[in-house]
Amino acid sequence: MIRLTLRRGKEESLLRRHPWIFSGAIYGTDGTPEEGDVVDVHTAEGRFIARGHCGIGSIAVRVLTFDENEPIDRTFWRRRIAEAYAVRQALGLTDSEDTTCYRLVHGEGDNLPGLVIDIYGTTAVMQAHSVGMYLVRNEIAEALKTVYGPEKLTAVYDKSEGTIPPKSGIETHDGYLWQSHPSNDSPIVKENGNRFRADWEEGQKTGFFIDQRENRALVARYARERRVLNTFCYTGGFSVYALQGGAVSVDSVDSSEKAVRLCSENIALANPTVPHREIVADALEFVREMPSEAYDLVILDPPAFAKHRKVLGNALQGYRRLNAAAIAKMPAGGILFTFSCSQAVSREQFRTAVFSAAATAGRRVRILHQLTQPADHPVNIYHPEGEYLKGLVLYIE
Ligand code: SAH
Repeated sequence: MIRLTLRRGKEESLLRRHPWIFSGAIYGTDGTPEEGDVVDVHTAEGRFIARGHCGIGSIAVRVLTFDENEPIDRTFWRRRIAEAYAVRQALGLTDSEDTTCYRLVHGEGDNLPGLVIDIYGTTAVMQAHSVGMYLVRNEIAEALKTVYGPEKLTAVYDKSEGTIPPKSGIETHDGYLWQSHPSNDSPIVKENGNRFRADWEEGQKTGFFIDQRENRALVARYARERRVLNTFCYTGGFSVYALQGGAVSVDSVDSSEKAVRLCSENIALANPTVPHREIVADALEFVREMPSEAYDLVILDPPAFAKHRKVLGNALQGYRRLNAAAIAKMPAGGILFTFSCSQAVSREQFRTAVFSAAATAGRRVRILHQLTQPADHPVNIYHPEGEYLKGLVLYIE
C-alpha cells in the first residue's frame, strides 16, 4: 500500500474525523500514487491516521476509514452500504408504499466520500464524484445486490459522466452496470403518494430532486386556496404538491424547455382540476415583469449560485436580487418559500441575503420555517459542509 506522510501538525482535522486531506497537508509519499488508488496516511511521527482514496485536485485524500485494521475490500463496501441501508430503514423509507424514491448514500454523510446513490423503485442510480469511487463501481453494484436482494433491486445505473472531474482524463459513459431484466418502461416513482416520472437516463443529477421531499409536503400544507408560482420548477415537484394541497392555480417556470416538458408530464400524472401553466422563461426576469400581487404563494428554488467559495460574493448578490424582486411583488399575507442549495453559502449568509432583500423591498417579513435537507441526506457531524440545502418560509405583510 502506498503511504502518504503529513506535514508536522497537519493531522489535527483528521483527529476530529474530518474526511478530507488537502494537498497542502502532504509532506511526501513513498511510491507514486495514481488518482483513485487507496492510500494509507501517516503522521509526521509515523503513526497511521487514515486510509482513503487518493485524488489529484486540492483534496488529496478522501478518507474511507480511520481504522488501521479495516481493509478496503468487498466486505468493506458491503458493510458501508448495509449501514446506509439500515439508516433508511430506520427512516421508514425502504418499505414505504407512499415514497418509493430516496437517497441511499449521501457521500460524507454516509462515510462514503465521493459517492451518491439514489433509489428509484427497484433501480439504484449511482454517481461517482471521485475517480476512486468510479474505479470500484462494480464492487459497489455487487454490494447493492447483496444488501437489497433480487426482489428489491433489479438494476444499477451509473451516471458518473457529469460528475467525474474532467481533468482526471478518465472517459466514462453513463449506462447500466447491471440489470436483471432489461425493460423500457418509463419508471414512475411515488413521493408522499404523488406520482412522478424519474428520468435518470436523461435528467439532471440522478434524475429527480429527492432532497425537497419534506419541503414539498410543506408547500402542500400552505397551498389551499392560493395562486401558486413555482420558479426553477425542473420536474415540477413543488407544482404537483401545490395542486394536491388545493391551490386554485399553479404556474411553473423554468428556463429549460426540457425541464418544462418533464414538468408537464408530471402534472398530467397528477390530473389537476384547476389551471396549470408551464412557462419557459428566465425566472428573475419573469418575477420582475409579473404584475404585483399575482400570486399568493411563490417558490424560489434556483440551482446552486455558488459552486465554489470564490464566487460567493456574486452568489449572495444573486440571492438578494431574486428574493427582493419576489418579496416586492407579494400581496399582504403572501407566503414565500425560498431556497439555496449552494454548499459554499452558509445558513447565516443565506439568511442575511434574504434579510437584505426584505429590507430592499421595504416589507415586513416573518420567518415561519427554517428548512433543510431530509434525513436521507444526512450530515456527518465532522463534515458540516455536507449541510447544503437551506430554506426559509416567509410570511410577507
Ligand atoms: N425545484 C426543483 C429543482 C430545481 S433545479 C425541484 O424541486 O425538483 C434548478 C432548475 O433551475 C433547473 O431545472 C434549471 O433548468 C433551472 N434554471 C436554471 N437557471 C434558470 C433561470 N435563470 N431561470 C429559470 N430557470 C432556471
